[in-house]
Amino acid sequence: MGLMRHVVATRSFLFRQAEMSRPLSLGIRNMSLIRNKAFINGAWKSAASGEEFAVINPADGNVIGNVPNMNEADTHEAIVAASNSFQQWQDTTAKERSHYLKKWFDLLEKNKEELSEIITAESGKPLKEAAGEVAYGNSFIEWFAEEARRVHGEVIASPVKSKEMIFIKRPIGVTALITPWNFPIAMITRKAGAALAAGCTCVVKPAEDTPLTALALAALAQDSGIPAGVFNVVTSARENAPQVGKSLCESPLVAGISFTGSTDVGKLLYKMCSKGVKRLSLELGGNAPFIVFKSADVGKAVQGAIASKFRNCGQTCVSANRFFVQDEVFDEFVAKFKEEMKSQLILGMGSDGVSTLGPLINDAQVHKVDNIVQDAVKKGARVLVGGKTASSIGDRFFEPTLIVDVDPRMLCYNEEIFGPIAVLIKFKTEEEALRLANNTKRGLAGYFYSNDIAQIWRVAKKLEVGMAGINEGIISTAEAAFGGIKESGLGREGSHYGMEEYTYIKYLCFGNL
Ligand code: ADP
Repeated sequence: MGLMRHVVATRSFLFRQAEMSRPLSLGIRNMSLIRNKAFINGAWKSAASGEEFAVINPADGNVIGNVPNMNEADTHEAIVAASNSFQQWQDTTAKERSHYLKKWFDLLEKNKEELSEIITAESGKPLKEAAGEVAYGNSFIEWFAEEARRVHGEVIASPVKSKEMIFIKRPIGVTALITPWNFPIAMITRKAGAALAAGCTCVVKPAEDTPLTALALAALAQDSGIPAGVFNVVTSARENAPQVGKSLCESPLVAGISFTGSTDVGKLLYKMCSKGVKRLSLELGGNAPFIVFKSADVGKAVQGAIASKFRNCGQTCVSANRFFVQDEVFDEFVAKFKEEMKSQLILGMGSDGVSTLGPLINDAQVHKVDNIVQDAVKKGARVLVGGKTASSIGDRFFEPTLIVDVDPRMLCYNEEIFGPIAVLIKFKTEEEALRLANNTKRGLAGYFYSNDIAQIWRVAKKLEVGMAGINEGIISTAEAAFGGIKESGLGREGSHYGMEEYTYIKYLCFGNL
């Protein structure tokens, strides 16, 4: 019934749009949060050049809307606005900032259905997953509204009688937040929530695939009364991203950058930030191992594996990328995994309310995933489920795929796949599993299933990752410290550590007492 209502509503919406002759895509019933301008200094702005770019629904290729294609000059305007507003924002009390964030959170919660529909329309993820992301994304604003009031200094025992010494925490200043498309709301809120709570102002540069969610966030920030210039959003097409990024990294008015995205772009930003010795927080690519030891509850391991691998169609940096399964339970794991894939995964339009797997984000991603599968097959791997694009549904849909007989010569063994491809590898001993799991430059998340408590401790300590799921496939929450080691990044987001990226310690020494 629910589904039918939705389909009818979608059709009548489309019909209305057709009458208005504006090319808007299916699924967004309430347009009140759709903005087609960037948000700078509390005002909705076009690019100075007048240029725009189209936002595409990856499920059907339709244009959802157009937003400004901003450049270096527009970015500078946003930085200046954030810098000016920082002068007042840093002087607000923690309690005042907490109130602003709570109001923003209330509005985000009130508008969660609208936000979910925007996310589904521009990222393709199923509505249920989009709703899950909105709840998760909103929770960062709530969490940091609370954390704002718990940034404390320290009083130090002075070594001499004539002096007293304290440490206070200060906001670093203007922050630039550059975010990816795979979590259009959560990747912004977990940065901006912490930044604003700490007393920083920000310029957000959302991914070119998903700017509408960022602008909806800005609309609600405006409605919540957050002062002009505190939260700015600069939109740009991919071809302008390098100049926008360069302005953000090299402007003397920007104190720090927080970036989530690919390792290659992260390294580029790291280099640019070195010129001004900027604060830098990086959440880059992962290559998560998922190890199933012979003592594990195989049924639970399969459930965790499906959840970790296929969430957001595998387009998650903490997605299980390589499954290592011990000899003794390999066949059982493969059989159950295959069964669960068939019963749980429904590929289709994210807006239909039934599908559990949507499209990949864009053509480049489809090409990459297809190439990874073909390379494996050419080199001798066996495809047990799926293995090709599902063109009967749409060009960007890829069948959930299961591959075995994999070896280190294959791309799927080494690359972050970022698609619905599960790669299963057999191992014999714990040492071998750890060696294989750690044999990567990445170190974001890792998962393992075991019921041997001594082994759990050993592996938890030896796995080279920033986050480990132990008999658990879903680990993200606002309370957790999210982040990686090795080439997966610097710094932590969420938890109370998330605030530290946006504050610095100032030592005050009182003399001649
Ligand atoms: P993906 O490959 O998943 O799109 P990217 O790292 O390319 O990941 O993109 C993440 C974010 O980084 C997006 O907002 C994108 O526009 C931005 N970006 C891409 N190239 C640059 C660049 N040279 N400088 C700054 N930002 C960039």
